[in-house]
Amino acid sequence: MILPKNRYYCQACHRPKMVFDTEQSADRFIKFNSAEMLEATGSAPVRSYYCRLCCGWHVTSNSSLELGEKLNKRDSNLIGKIDRQINKKRKVEEIRRITNDYSSRSSALIEKAKHRLEKGKRIAAKNCLQESLNIICGGLERFPQWAKGRELKNRAESLLNTLEIFVSEQPLP
Ligand SMILES: [Zn+2]
Repeated sequence: MILPKNRYYCQACHRPKMVFDTEQSADRFIKFNSAEMLEATGSAPVRSYYCRLCCGWHVTSNSSLELGEKLNKRDSNLIGKIDRQINKKRKVEEIRRITNDYSSRSSALIEKAKHRLEKGKRIAAKNCLQESLNIICGGLERFPQWAKGRELKNRAESLLNTLEIFVSEQPLP
């Protein structure tokens, strides 16, 4: 009996299964091993089928083509589900990349505003805060789930409020 080292975990069957690259090699396996397997284990593969999740051929002791058809349908649904998950993951990564960019640009402007403020340049500081708020508000409009954006918005707004109170109390330079 040939025991091929071609066992892989099949996402459709949820267990390791032999995977053959071609229908011919799967059928050849059945032809040359089934009698011996039947004798040794009481069951033997009787037909081969293509698995879309493994992208290869499995052998099965279940002769029912009707069941095979059902399983193929199940596998197609499973593939669709996995692909949707992948797309969702890609989308999440893309959103993360974009919001990270918004975050770094707006935090840099907030830091710049603080430096301007330290140097007494209030109008320049106010402009920086306004610019950062433009980025943050635009980002939040596009991605309302951007948590860091809400945090940055609060930071920029409170700085701006402090600045305005400060500015209204003292004449601008
Ligand atoms: Zn499989």
